[in-house]
Amino acid sequence: MRKPGVRKHSRRRFDNARMKRRARAVRPWDTQATNADHLAECPCHMCGNPRRHWGQLTMPELKFRDMAEFQIKDIA
Ligand SMILES: [Zn+2]
Repeated sequence: MRKPGVRKHSRRRFDNARMKRRARAVRPWDTQATNADHLAECPCHMCGNPRRHWGQLTMPELKFRDMAEFQIKDIA
């Protein structure tokens, strides 16, 4: 494990270049790679966050809730 705080800037620049390369592969017409920070194509209700569009919990939140209920039941 690398010492924390070392080479953060170079790592960030490397990751940024990597994600720009991927963004240009996904959308070759976007030469500026404007979506490099998220790579999201579609903001529709089927692809988006269910909490945002439907007021429901997301899948990780459902898993956490179920696990928490299970553990509380186990204690009591
Ligand atoms: Zn969609």
